[in-house]
Amino acid sequence: MASPDLTSTATPSEGVQRYSTYAKKFSISPITPDPVQWDKDWERCINSPDLEKSSVLLVAKKQGMRLEGLPAAAKEGHLTYARSAVVERQGHVHTFFTSFRAKGGFDTIWLLLEEPDRQKHILNGLQEACSHSFLGEDGRACCPELTVASMTKGRGNGFLRLLELFGATKKSAKEGVPFGLPSEWWERAVDDEAKPLSSDAEFVYELLTLGRNEFICMFILYVSRSTNHDVVNGAKSVDPIMKLMEDKGFANALAEVTQSVRETPIIRCENCEKSADELGSETRFMVCSACKKKLDFSLHYCSQACQRADWGRHKRNCGKQKVSKRLPGTAEDSTWATPSLPDFARDELNHFDAQGKDITTLGFGKSQFPRSAALQLQVSMLEADKPADYFLFTPARAAVRFVIDDPSAKMMFRFFRAEVMSSQEHMAIGPMVQYLIKGMAGSPGLSREIILKQISDEYGVDAEERLKRTEGNAPPGVTFMERIQKSVATMGPRLMNSMK
Ligand SMILES: [Zn+2]
Ligand SMILES: [Zn+2]
Repeated sequence: MASPDLTSTATPSEGVQRYSTYAKKFSISPITPDPVQWDKDWERCINSPDLEKSSVLLVAKKQGMRLEGLPAAAKEGHLTYARSAVVERQGHVHTFFTSFRAKGGFDTIWLLLEEPDRQKHILNGLQEACSHSFLGEDGRACCPELTVASMTKGRGNGFLRLLELFGATKKSAKEGVPFGLPSEWWERAVDDEAKPLSSDAEFVYELLTLGRNEFICMFILYVSRSTNHDVVNGAKSVDPIMKLMEDKGFANALAEVTQSVRETPIIRCENCEKSADELGSETRFMVCSACKKKLDFSLHYCSQACQRADWGRHKRNCGKQKVSKRLPGTAEDSTWATPSLPDFARDELNHFDAQGKDITTLGFGKSQFPRSAALQLQVSMLEADKPADYFLFTPARAAVRFVIDDPSAKMMFRFFRAEVMSSQEHMAIGPMVQYLIKGMAGSPGLSREIILKQISDEYGVDAEERLKRTEGNAPPGVTFMERIQKSVATMGPRLMNSMK
């Protein structure tokens, strides 16, 4: 890099004297042999009121930049060089990440990692950024928003939010000009300086702004490299995730759900069902005081008119029972953290929760399409016989009861079934019919053809074509449902965590 004084702070490796102003000032222990202690020391430094107040400009000056007498042309030379270097790195990281996130499903992999793995990658990213960026370790003092805690916040969403901010800022930036990630703290950094800024101070501030943004770039790059390294080398921690990602459709659906995790439940009016977003931010929600007082239960209304309108329904339970509509996204919705969960899954999970997690109560939501007579018959038979998972019919119209005993298989089947029976797309019809055929095609009076015809009649789709699609992208022998079930069983706790 152009400035000799700043480059000298780089590469804080073993045996090399560090030129980090902050490492000295805050007695920060060296990266090796204990990077965790090193990080703790840095976090202490970052959270110190000293850093909050001390202007970075002063620090940089203390670093020994001998600016007096440096000709204006030399300063401009340093800046020109630094600007083009930062533009190049920002462009590189942006290109890399855009394709990595789109093709490699980085976000899903990231969110499904175990917490200690994410911490490891963040720490690697910080260390590498310190070694490779031109501010060296002092880059950390310029980027207090990059900590292990903040980046792993919300099960890894902290880092994904940084990526989003980076991408959005890049998009709105001019081509060929370095962009700065917005930071109030950074804007304030010049406030302690005498105004107007001396030309030296202005020079240092711009150089440090470039250094700060280069550091963020390096950090993003090395966190992703660290993660990618595990993926490429088949590390144990990513193995179950990669198995899960092999099922493209499933992985995409999962990615969508895990990427839009909500941090806190939203509030909706129990009557008109609208949220603050839909009503406008000035809305002040009221809670039913009787329910709040007697049950410590919050039922929200956007207005007195809505509260009055809902009274006919609410009065039966008011102050007696915690009954709400479990509106999507509210605290009473057990899936509030995952706004992009499809409606059928939300309905089923809420129902499942309310019924004390009894699998046989996992049914099928309201259907979004007119049911055929054949499907109506299926529905009424299933409703009358909760433990049964499906009814198949022989050509002589004798009903054969299909019941799955294994709880995790039963649960998985019922999720597929709920999608097929409630959503118009019947996306899971291939996997469902494949599983039915595997279990039942050999039973007396049934066959592959008979089962396919029944399903085609019930849903008005070509079940055979759907089955072929399912079989097409999978090894023979094991059904799609069994494979998903196996991945989910291995990934279960992690999946649940990533969606909570
Ligand atoms: Zn309302
Ligand atoms: Zn009430």
